[in-house]
Amino acid sequence: MTATHSTRMLILGSGPAGLSAAIYGARAGLAPIVVQGIQPGGQLMTTTDVENYPGFREVIQGPWLMQEMQAQAEHVGAQMLWDTIVEVDVSQRPFRMVGDSGTVYVGDTLVIATGAQARWLGLDSEELLKGKGVSACATCDGFFFRGKKVAVIGGGNTAVEEALYLTNHSHDVTLIHRRDSLRAEKILQQRLFANDKITTLWNKKVERFIDGGGVAGLVGIELKDMVTGELSTLEVDGGFVAIGHHPATELFRGHIALDQDNYITVDKGTTRTSVPGVFACGDVMDKHYRQAITAAGTGCMAALDAERFLAEADFEQVAEAAE
Ligand SMILES: Cc1cc2nc3c(=O)[nH]c(=O)nc-3n(C[C@H](O)[C@H](O)[C@H](O)COP(=O)(O)OP(=O)(O)OC[C@H]3O[C@@H](n4cnc5c(N)ncnc54)[C@H](O)[C@@H]3O)c2cc1C
Repeated sequence: MTATHSTRMLILGSGPAGLSAAIYGARAGLAPIVVQGIQPGGQLMTTTDVENYPGFREVIQGPWLMQEMQAQAEHVGAQMLWDTIVEVDVSQRPFRMVGDSGTVYVGDTLVIATGAQARWLGLDSEELLKGKGVSACATCDGFFFRGKKVAVIGGGNTAVEEALYLTNHSHDVTLIHRRDSLRAEKILQQRLFANDKITTLWNKKVERFIDGGGVAGLVGIELKDMVTGELSTLEVDGGFVAIGHHPATELFRGHIALDQDNYITVDKGTTRTSVPGVFACGDVMDKHYRQAITAAGTGCMAALDAERFLAEADFEQVAEAAE
């Protein structure tokens, strides 16, 4: 027989956004259910040092932070279920989801916190050196490369923004792009070209991230010239892959409004989506900041928005019944 779980607040995703929504939802008495997805704890489970999450003087570990967040959510009454949603029906309330396990989830409100994954180049050497010099987030990891040589790979807005951000820490930033012009907005390009800490390498493709062995991690990048085919090596301590992100929104296409980059759109200053009663928080609706603290902040907003939505819906129901 198919199991069914019903709740006032169904949360998809267990990263900082989903777990913060769970903490606030539970404390508002909504007994939330969190469907954790294939990556319980979200992206921070894949990293080590986190130095910018407020409240901790010393460096903390990403997986430890997420375990604490989950424990806090459970402590105040949220329920965690390990499943991945594969089907959604938000055409009427209560909303109905189906998990990979066949379990049905029914929510009076739905909080979407499914995140966005960074796109990678797909090289074996990249996989090997992730967290050992290779990163996809300058805001997260740039600080660890103070005074060192770094490179950014990409040619869009994200790549140029990451390169500019890294000049706060490094005097030697190289932007590597496989074409001879950038896709980034003109104003960003102007700022990039005016910055003497940044050098741009055109028509270069990353062949391999070079492992220095032992604790050294990344020591260089092997590049191939797209015009001549010539191979060269750029010595760097940090390599930032900035070729975009992929928001986890396939499930919602055609059901909830998405923007041109497939992020969920929300009403300005809120987490309200195009479907009343459905709220979105964290990286799945935020392509600008993409930080654990902003994900947690919007998770809090989603729970508060959902609580107010339910209070209004309940009030209207009582008022209608009384007429
Ligand atoms: C290597 C690395 C290092 C980072 N370092 C830092 C840092 O130092 N400081 C910082 O502030 N930020 C850092 N970040 C960014 C930070 O991790 C993200 O901004 C944050 O995790 C976003 O939170 P989120 O809850 O929106 O999404 P995520 O953390 O991406 O969580 C998404 C959740 O949704 C679930 N999910 C997806 N699809 C489904 C589905 N169909 N059904 C159910 N669940 C689903 C996943 O299992 C996951 O639990 C780092 C990111 C990476 C990758």
